[in-house]
Amino acid sequence: MDFTLLFYRMKRVFFLLIMAVFFCVPLNTFGWGMLGHRVVGGIAEHHLNPKARAAIKRILGNESLAMAASWADFIKSDRSYDYLGPWHYINVSSGKSYSQFMQYLQDDTATDLFTKLNLVISELKSGKLSKEKQVFYLKLLVHLVGDAHQPMHMGRPEDKGGNDIRVSWFGRPTNLHRVWDEHLVEFQQLSYTEHIAAINFTTVAQRDKWMRQPVKEWLYESYAAAQKIYSGVKMDDKLWYDYNFQFVGLMNEQLLKGGVRLAGLLNNIFGK
Ligand SMILES: [Zn+2]
Repeated sequence: MDFTLLFYRMKRVFFLLIMAVFFCVPLNTFGWGMLGHRVVGGIAEHHLNPKARAAIKRILGNESLAMAASWADFIKSDRSYDYLGPWHYINVSSGKSYSQFMQYLQDDTATDLFTKLNLVISELKSGKLSKEKQVFYLKLLVHLVGDAHQPMHMGRPEDKGGNDIRVSWFGRPTNLHRVWDEHLVEFQQLSYTEHIAAINFTTVAQRDKWMRQPVKEWLYESYAAAQKIYSGVKMDDKLWYDYNFQFVGLMNEQLLKGGVRLAGLLNNIFGK
């Protein structure tokens, strides 16, 4: 056995392993990862009325809602879009009752997910946008409705929506926010079309109910879900299969509601 050769081979394998780990760890936190956002956009496509579908096709061309959904994250690499950063979330302290939460939104004038989602909806409804602005606001809408259904985007200010809560996911260090953005969705090992096929089951009554609920109600649901998530974890917890088992249902429900409600909004804006 040539030990020198063996040594060099091992060194090379070790180097490749380090590089693989380095490049596989995402460097930023982005709302639902690409998969989650695509699931929401793709489910919405299933529930558009023909008029809304045609209007959206005129705006986006061949780009699907699923593929347009992550644009608002991709542009974060361009500094000129930095002002959009706070549009993706709204941090609210824990312990608010339903009426306190509603009052909080009522008084809210900050630059955040709630006020900007309302702005995007009213701009699209105005009917007087340039083509370029229509594309801009439509892509933002698809993304922000997704974020509104990621419970950790309604997290507490003191831990930055779970970003400061250190946990590990199957032995890899991460944080609670990212578990909900990415790890839990990716753990299912489904493409976004497979994920949609697996969860896109609703009754007419469910869709009617979800589509009629105003944005404030969605946000309250996400807020309530965030409280459940916070109570299920503490600093430095090691999350494994049991975490997936406990929360996969909640995650799928949020993705499904996000998609159906996005379709409801789009039918309302473009399909009348
Ligand atoms: Zn986002």
